[in-house]
Amino acid sequence: MSASDVGDGVKRAGLLIVGSVALDSVETPVGKVERALGGAAVYSSVAASFFSPVRIVGVVGEDFPKEHLDFLGSRNIDTRGLQVVDGKTFHWSGSYEGDMNEAQTIATELNVFQDFKPELPDDYKASKFVFLANIDPSLQLQVLDQIEDAELVACDTMNFWIDNKKDELVEVLGRVDILFMNDAEARQITGEVNLTKAADKLRKMGPRYVIVKKGEHGALMYCDGNTCFAAASYPLEEIADPTGAGDSFAGGFMGYVANTGELSDGNLRKAVIYGSTMASFNCQDFSLNMLQRLTPEEVDRRYNEFKRLVFFEEF
Ligand code: AMP
Repeated sequence: MSASDVGDGVKRAGLLIVGSVALDSVETPVGKVERALGGAAVYSSVAASFFSPVRIVGVVGEDFPKEHLDFLGSRNIDTRGLQVVDGKTFHWSGSYEGDMNEAQTIATELNVFQDFKPELPDDYKASKFVFLANIDPSLQLQVLDQIEDAELVACDTMNFWIDNKKDELVEVLGRVDILFMNDAEARQITGEVNLTKAADKLRKMGPRYVIVKKGEHGALMYCDGNTCFAAASYPLEEIADPTGAGDSFAGGFMGYVANTGELSDGNLRKAVIYGSTMASFNCQDFSLNMLQRLTPEEVDRRYNEFKRLVFFEEF
């Protein structure tokens, strides 16, 4: 099963994704964009849609350009769970400097997310695979309360919610199987500088798997008290905009897992590499521009390059 096999006519279960749908203003050393399409649910849904049908849950205001709704609808993404209401769309602005591994948040305007009550269409409730992308953990909990019998639930978050809604976030962690977090957030929430100790503490809070993303330094998957997989990140010569890299990683990972339905060690390793593949493409242009023009064949080619990059045999 690879990205270019999707669309082969086989009906597969979809992946439910809830999270921010945003207009982002971003500045990097390479350039800047104003109110461009963004949001954790958007990056992860588009990345996941290369592998699996997606059902997106979120909210936008009436200022959200119709072309963005049309773009999501043109992909393997069911947008019936995306509400359009009076008010302004979530807006995040941030900037990157130096190695671009960490965003400096300039402003977070929750806008329509402040009064959002997620209501899942009935057929979404039976979703077997669920990704709670970055958003208020209270909303992640409200979605979880409506899910009937999921096989695998994953979540992501960020420093903003660790600072402002830690109790709710801890409750979410108690109800998920997989946690995606970047290294700084794993250290922040646990108070542990050592990442292996931090991951161990996080696993004790609920998730069986903790996947720590380390920007250009790759990702570590922890399970059963060990580091069970270490993935490199793809060595890019130029990074235009890392916004959404973490979400694209999680979307690629979860889309691949939802489509294969297999939770074996070997399959989760492949999912990490598909996640790294989608994250690397995302960094090559601003907003969703790269994922928008990317083809499944290019995804498979880079996945195979990754295989060669990290391959080694025992002596
Ligand atoms: P990433 O670069 O993968 O960590 O995610 C970037 C995306 O997260 C941007 O498109 C933002 O719109 C979104 N974002 C930023 N802050 C928040 C927040 N507090 N809650 C939810 N999404 C956010």
